[in-house]
Amino acid sequence: MQEILEDTLRLLEGCNCETSCTECLNHFHNQHLQSRLDRHLGAMLLKYAVWGTIPSCASPEMQAETLSQLRASLELDGYRCTATGEEVMPLRVEHDGRLVAVGCFPGLIHTSNFIHPIASAKGVHGHLALNEYLLRSDLPGAHLMVKELFAS
Ligand SMILES: [Zn+2]
Repeated sequence: MQEILEDTLRLLEGCNCETSCTECLNHFHNQHLQSRLDRHLGAMLLKYAVWGTIPSCASPEMQAETLSQLRASLELDGYRCTATGEEVMPLRVEHDGRLVAVGCFPGLIHTSNFIHPIASAKGVHGHLALNEYLLRSDLPGAHLMVKELFAS
Protein backbone atom coordinates (compact mmCIF):
# COMPACT_ATOMS: atom_id res chain seq x y z
CA MET A 1 0.00 0.00 0.00
CA GLN A 2 2.82 2.40 0.93
CA GLU A 3 4.37 1.93 -2.51
CA ILE A 4 1.04 2.63 -4.26
CA LEU A 5 0.55 5.82 -2.22
CA GLU A 6 4.11 7.00 -2.91
CA ASP A 7 3.70 6.28 -6.65
CA THR A 8 0.40 8.19 -6.61
CA LEU A 9 2.04 11.19 -4.97
CA ARG A 10 4.89 11.09 -7.51
CA LEU A 11 2.32 11.01 -10.33
CA LEU A 12 0.36 13.95 -8.88
CA GLU A 13 3.41 16.09 -8.14
CA GLY A 14 5.37 15.11 -11.23
CA CYS A 15 2.89 16.05 -13.93
CA ASN A 16 3.36 19.26 -15.92
CA CYS A 17 -0.30 20.16 -16.39
CA GLU A 18 -2.04 22.99 -14.51
CA THR A 19 -4.74 20.95 -12.74
CA SER A 20 -5.39 17.59 -14.43
CA CYS A 21 -4.76 15.81 -17.74
CA THR A 22 -4.74 12.30 -19.21
CA GLU A 23 -1.16 11.83 -17.94
CA CYS A 24 -2.24 12.15 -14.29
CA LEU A 25 -5.93 12.15 -13.24
CA ASN A 26 -8.20 12.23 -16.27
CA HIS A 27 -9.59 9.05 -17.78
CA PHE A 28 -12.75 7.95 -19.57
CA HIS A 29 -14.72 7.10 -16.42
CA ASN A 30 -14.28 10.47 -14.68
CA GLN A 31 -14.85 12.71 -17.70
CA HIS A 32 -18.03 14.17 -16.15
CA LEU A 33 -16.01 15.73 -13.29
CA GLN A 34 -12.63 16.45 -14.88
CA SER A 35 -13.17 20.20 -14.71
CA ARG A 36 -13.13 19.88 -10.90
CA LEU A 37 -10.04 17.67 -10.59
CA ASP A 38 -6.91 19.31 -9.23
CA ARG A 39 -3.69 17.30 -8.89
CA HIS A 40 -2.15 19.87 -6.47
CA LEU A 41 -5.14 19.59 -4.13
CA GLY A 42 -5.05 15.78 -4.49
CA ALA A 43 -1.33 15.68 -3.60
CA MET A 44 -1.93 17.94 -0.60
CA LEU A 45 -4.82 15.77 0.61
CA LEU A 46 -2.79 12.58 0.16
CA LYS A 47 0.17 14.02 2.11
CA TYR A 48 -2.14 15.07 4.92
CA ALA A 49 -4.04 11.76 5.06
CA VAL A 50 -1.00 9.48 4.83
CA TRP A 51 1.89 11.42 6.36
CA GLY A 52 0.04 14.05 8.44
CA THR A 53 1.60 16.94 6.52
CA ILE A 54 -0.46 20.04 7.33
CA PRO A 55 -1.14 22.13 4.19
CA SER A 56 0.21 25.68 4.35
CA CYS A 57 0.29 28.83 2.25
CA ALA A 58 2.74 28.92 -0.63
CA SER A 59 5.58 31.46 -0.68
CA PRO A 60 4.58 35.05 -1.57
CA GLU A 61 6.22 34.53 -4.98
CA MET A 62 4.18 31.36 -5.65
CA GLN A 63 0.99 33.10 -4.48
CA ALA A 64 1.70 35.96 -6.90
CA GLU A 65 2.13 33.36 -9.65
CA THR A 66 -1.20 31.71 -8.72
CA LEU A 67 -2.80 35.17 -8.75
CA SER A 68 -1.31 36.11 -12.15
CA GLN A 69 -4.56 35.66 -14.11
CA LEU A 70 -6.46 37.77 -11.57
CA ARG A 71 -3.66 40.32 -11.80
CA ALA A 72 -3.95 40.49 -15.61
CA SER A 73 -7.72 40.85 -15.34
CA LEU A 74 -7.41 43.68 -12.77
CA GLU A 75 -4.75 45.49 -14.82
CA LEU A 76 -7.03 45.42 -17.86
CA ASP A 77 -9.64 47.06 -15.63
CA GLY A 78 -7.27 49.91 -14.68
CA TYR A 79 -5.89 48.62 -11.37
CA ARG A 80 -2.16 48.84 -10.67
CA CYS A 81 -0.80 45.51 -9.40
CA THR A 82 2.62 44.66 -8.01
CA ALA A 83 4.03 41.35 -6.76
CA THR A 84 5.86 42.38 -3.58
CA GLY A 85 7.43 39.13 -2.36
CA GLU A 86 6.08 40.02 1.11
CA GLU A 87 4.15 37.48 3.17
CA VAL A 88 1.64 40.15 4.29
CA MET A 89 1.04 41.32 0.71
CA PRO A 90 1.86 38.82 -2.07
CA LEU A 91 -0.05 41.03 -4.51
CA ARG A 92 -0.38 44.79 -3.99
CA VAL A 93 -3.41 46.26 -5.78
CA GLU A 94 -3.81 50.05 -6.08
CA HIS A 95 -6.61 52.19 -7.48
CA ASP A 96 -7.81 55.76 -6.83
CA GLY A 97 -5.19 56.27 -4.10
CA ARG A 98 -6.33 53.18 -2.21
CA LEU A 99 -4.34 50.03 -1.52
CA VAL A 100 -5.57 46.45 -1.06
CA ALA A 101 -3.45 43.41 -0.12
CA VAL A 102 -4.34 40.19 -1.95
CA GLY A 103 -3.08 36.69 -1.21
CA CYS A 104 -4.25 33.12 -1.68
CA PHE A 105 -4.25 29.84 0.23
CA PRO A 106 -4.80 26.12 -0.48
CA GLY A 107 -8.46 25.10 -0.56
CA LEU A 108 -7.82 22.35 2.01
CA ILE A 109 -7.15 24.84 4.82
CA HIS A 110 -10.33 26.86 4.26
CA THR A 111 -11.58 26.65 7.85
CA SER A 112 -13.10 29.24 10.15
CA ASN A 113 -9.93 29.52 12.27
CA PHE A 114 -7.54 30.01 9.33
CA ILE A 115 -6.03 33.52 9.20
CA HIS A 116 -3.89 34.45 6.19
CA PRO A 117 -0.78 36.58 6.95
CA ILE A 118 -2.29 39.44 4.87
CA ALA A 119 -4.70 40.05 7.77
CA SER A 120 -1.78 41.82 9.50
CA ALA A 121 -0.87 44.04 6.51
CA LYS A 122 -0.45 47.65 7.69
CA GLY A 123 -1.65 50.81 5.95
CA VAL A 124 -4.08 49.10 3.58
CA HIS A 125 -7.69 49.95 2.76
CA GLY A 126 -8.55 46.26 2.81
CA HIS A 127 -7.22 42.76 2.31
CA LEU A 128 -8.48 39.68 0.53
CA ALA A 129 -7.32 36.06 0.91
CA LEU A 130 -8.60 33.87 -1.91
CA ASN A 131 -9.12 30.10 -1.83
CA GLU A 132 -6.90 28.82 -4.67
CA TYR A 133 -9.38 26.13 -5.72
CA LEU A 134 -12.27 28.61 -5.91
CA LEU A 135 -10.03 31.19 -7.61
CA ARG A 136 -9.35 28.75 -10.44
CA SER A 137 -13.04 28.00 -10.93
CA ASP A 138 -14.35 31.58 -10.62
CA LEU A 139 -11.90 34.25 -11.76
CA PRO A 140 -14.66 36.82 -12.52
CA GLY A 141 -16.00 36.32 -8.98
CA ALA A 142 -12.55 37.00 -7.50
CA HIS A 143 -12.20 40.10 -9.70
CA LEU A 144 -15.53 41.40 -8.36
CA MET A 145 -14.47 40.72 -4.75
CA VAL A 146 -11.39 42.92 -5.23
CA LYS A 147 -13.48 45.67 -6.88
CA GLU A 148 -15.97 45.59 -4.01
CA LEU A 149 -13.15 46.12 -1.50
CA PHE A 150 -12.24 49.36 -3.27
CA ALA A 151 -15.89 50.46 -3.35
CA SER A 152 -16.52 49.94 0.37
ZN1 LIG B 1 -1.51 16.11 -15.51
